[in-house]
Amino acid sequence: MYSFLDRLRNSVARFMYGRYGIDQLGWATLAVEMGLTIVSSFVRVRAVWMVLRLLALALTFILVYRMFSRNMAKRRAENAWFLRWWTPLRTGFRDARYRRADKAHKYVRCECGAWCRVPRNVGKVELICPKCNAKKIVKT
Ligand SMILES: [Zn+2]
Repeated sequence: MYSFLDRLRNSVARFMYGRYGIDQLGWATLAVEMGLTIVSSFVRVRAVWMVLRLLALALTFILVYRMFSRNMAKRRAENAWFLRWWTPLRTGFRDARYRRADKAHKYVRCECGAWCRVPRNVGKVELICPKCNAKKIVKT
């Protein structure tokens, strides 16, 4: 026997067939939308509150539009564009957390942007950057 829930699930599946659904950009849109909603609940200035609510509404609209879109190629391109700057950002956060947690080493940033790792408490050492070979005296 067909229950109501089965029927509902089937009709949702039929409706979503051939539609894009949710991707990383969609989850990010949802997260920002929820963040804006939470922030707006603390805002007492009416104009600022309105702007935040409007932004959240616009993001909800974009999210729903992208989920139900049939233009897969375009939606995938948008997601790829998003991941192009989001992935290095996420890696950067993760690496920074790792460096902070590592108490046995000191991390020195070279002019070329590379991070050099030296053990702590070994006195003065000459550091040679593995990337650009620049030398630097570092107190550990
Ligand atoms: Zn360097």
